[in-house]
Amino acid sequence: MSKIKMGKIVEMDGDEMTRIIWKMIKDELLSPFVELNTEYYDLGLKHRDETNDQVSIDAGEACKKYHVGVKCATITPNAQRVEEYNLKEMWKSPNGTIRAILDGTVFRAPILVSGVKPAVRFWEKPITIARHAYGDVYKGTEFRVTEPGKAELLFTGESGEQKRATVYDFECGGVLQAQYNKDSSIRSFAHSCFNYALDTKQDLWFSTKDTISKQYDQTFKLIFEEIYENEYKEAFEKAGITYFYTLIDDAVARVIRSKGGYIWACKNYDGDVMSDMVSTAFGSLAMMTSVLVSPDGNFEYEAAHGTVTRHYYRHLQGETTSTNPIATIFAWTGALRKRGELDGNDELMKFADKLEKASLDVIESGRMTKDLAMLWQGEKPQTLSTEEFIKAIRAELEK
Ligand code: NAP
Ligand code: MG
Repeated sequence: MSKIKMGKIVEMDGDEMTRIIWKMIKDELLSPFVELNTEYYDLGLKHRDETNDQVSIDAGEACKKYHVGVKCATITPNAQRVEEYNLKEMWKSPNGTIRAILDGTVFRAPILVSGVKPAVRFWEKPITIARHAYGDVYKGTEFRVTEPGKAELLFTGESGEQKRATVYDFECGGVLQAQYNKDSSIRSFAHSCFNYALDTKQDLWFSTKDTISKQYDQTFKLIFEEIYENEYKEAFEKAGITYFYTLIDDAVARVIRSKGGYIWACKNYDGDVMSDMVSTAFGSLAMMTSVLVSPDGNFEYEAAHGTVTRHYYRHLQGETTSTNPIATIFAWTGALRKRGELDGNDELMKFADKLEKASLDVIESGRMTKDLAMLWQGEKPQTLSTEEFIKAIRAELEK
């Protein structure tokens, strides 16, 4: 059997348990079937440290060049990791670095299998959350005041013109915060959302609190509206999908009552909170994929979970682990399918579909990793080790 040929994608290797799984997936599920054509970047923490993190920047630039990338989970160093790896510096999160280069939005979607029922009984299809990962409270400036006094918001334009508003006349101590966002970032977010909705043929919902935040949130609402009307409305109508704006509280109520099957775009904080709510309600972090979509059409796929450190330490001690590789497999299939789509490579797209189906078929036949076995509703499942599970998918794929 000849292997499937493909155009180039960017491959970003990572850390710990997911690095082990990465190799297993390539060896067992990809290389035997596809002539893998990747530009390899080792984002493992050791190599990031050796290159003074230049490799993260190079990987981000490569994603721009080839338009499609797939990334393994990586360690974001903290003080403990600096010691553990004897790092020169507490390097920034590679995801943050790549996101800054691609100016993208992260879309997170659950992978559904019969047997793991969402906590919300109405949900039948995935709900994809798009989080605007820029500004707002995450870049807020804040302090406490401890005596009575006047708090003001002051803007001094380049022209010298000033805008000033009283925030509050404090009669006692309290707290203050200022936050900002940029039109350019909101526009990029909107383009990424509209493009991804068209790409996946799903409705797009967007929610803010513009009734209360009459300038700040209103700006988000108006920018989305303007871009939709001028640039996407026709394409949406053609694709048979809709764009829908509503207040965040109304959105929450509708989401719970919905069947799923749409994208929910959220401001930074809302997205932070709601994505944890939605992913937990769908079942397992190990069944959640993530794709970074840039406004000009670059796609970087990964699993939503981390490097599964606890399992890795057990693996190092020679214990057998039962770590779920599904989200990492789907990161690969997402990237291969997108490459296929961009190149008109049907064979590659079909392979991605087959690999996903084989993976889910194994689970639905009652064989799975421990995390899923604990959530399983139905006949007693068979718990497999990481390796056994990947081998079972290989056998299914070869059928
Ligand atoms: P994590 O790696 O997602 O793991 C947290 C826990 O969730 C695990 O201990 C495990 O629970 C369960 N879990 C996650 N993925 C699983 C899988 N595929 N199969 C089975 N169980 C799974 O998060 P973390 O422990 O907070 O972070 C570990 C490292 O990952 C950190 O260094 C962090 O910086 C990094 N991280 C990277 C990314 C990224 O690259 N995108 C994202 C998040 C975190 P049990 O131990 O109970 O089985
Ligand atoms: Mg969070």
